[in-house]
Amino acid sequence: MSVSAIVGMQWGDEGKGKIVDALSESVDLVVRCQGGANAGHTVVLGKTVFKLHVVPSGILREGVRSVVGNGVVFDPARLVAEIEGLEAMGIGVEGRLYLSDRAHMVLPYHQVLDGLQESSRGTRKIGTTGRGIGPAYADKAARLGLRAHDLLDEERFLKKLRELLSYGNRRIEVFGGEALDVAAHVEKLRRARGRLAPFVADTVSLLHEAYGAGKDILLEGAQGTQLDIDFGTYPFVTSSNTTGGGFCTGSGLPPSAVDRVHGVFKAFTTRVGEGPFVTEASEEESARLRGTGDQQWDEYGTTTGRPRRCGWCDLVLGRYAARVNGVTNLHITKLDVLSGLATLPLCTGYELDGRESHAVPADIDALSRAKPLYETLPGWSEPLAEIRAFDELPAAARGYVRRIFEEMKMSSGTVSVGPRRDQIVPVPR
Ligand code: GDP
Repeated sequence: MSVSAIVGMQWGDEGKGKIVDALSESVDLVVRCQGGANAGHTVVLGKTVFKLHVVPSGILREGVRSVVGNGVVFDPARLVAEIEGLEAMGIGVEGRLYLSDRAHMVLPYHQVLDGLQESSRGTRKIGTTGRGIGPAYADKAARLGLRAHDLLDEERFLKKLRELLSYGNRRIEVFGGEALDVAAHVEKLRRARGRLAPFVADTVSLLHEAYGAGKDILLEGAQGTQLDIDFGTYPFVTSSNTTGGGFCTGSGLPPSAVDRVHGVFKAFTTRVGEGPFVTEASEEESARLRGTGDQQWDEYGTTTGRPRRCGWCDLVLGRYAARVNGVTNLHITKLDVLSGLATLPLCTGYELDGRESHAVPADIDALSRAKPLYETLPGWSEPLAEIRAFDELPAAARGYVRRIFEEMKMSSGTVSVGPRRDQIVPVPR
């Protein structure tokens, strides 16, 4: 019996979907605890590519039950589209997918307000995915949200919805935006309600019963440590806790239940959107790390299609993420992408205002001034995609991985050498 959590250690897109998929082989339940359709997890099964946004990746494993926890915000129409997309690909969700009755909805005006607020910020844009996630969490905190249990009573739901849509329109008008057609949105959401109501469940009881019965549970994180509203590069962050604590507040399982935290760390660093990025590579190097866009794993956002900013491995951020999340198992992904580079810079510290530092400053202006202190490691030329044993990796690749494990004080984990389920190599202690 175990409860494990999977967390992103950088700015998201670390390849968590693949690790969740690998670890969900033997679990009973996979749970999403925070975020919304701004997350995009990619899982490759044979020739089929699944892009999941709100539904936990565990849905792709037969016999695994998937829970959308109370900490998630969901857009009803998008969730219906995601469920129908899965069904069209032969993945049945009936009786396997549970939507927490406490999860909040992203409503049409949240998305409009997201865009309007972002444009009103001028040069202080955050680079949001524009899916309404931030405004939905803001309304949750302001106690103006609609929750999944509201879907259970159509009449009451439509009444609350009409009121909220009218209020949303008043807020849209404040920003000079165009009011939404209330009747059209009510009709669209009425249809989504009928489709989603059967999935609404008391997931706190469900999870505690499973936990009490000794079932294995996997808590699937979305985004990454640097996007956490408290511990990330504020304000260039998402609106939820993407780190350790978010697993408990977003599921109803207590901290004492979580006995393993799997940290997913890409062998280099990427970020989408604005904000400081200490190890950002030159445009030429960044283009090499990003890929040309013809492979589905090249560095273009799963949700937005935006090219990701790319840079070198930052161990200051890595150590910080290991601490904040209490990582027990480290999974380094995309090592295969580094094949062919003559040398690999590894950032082990920052120079900030003339002093060496190993901490991540809260002030993003300070983080913007920080210069990376690099250690240069030798690269390797061999492709890694077919390697399955650590000892078969080129010596330089082993050295690179060992150095990262050592800096983060980790002894247990894996390296990933390709997007497929089987392309994973255990790292011996
Ligand atoms: P997530 O949000 O953390 O799940 O990350 P994404 O799914 O958005 O991005 C990861 C991308 O990298 C996906 O296209 C994966 O299929 C791919 N991927 C994951 N692990 C590896 C790996 O080890 N090597 C390569 N080349 N691609 C990988």
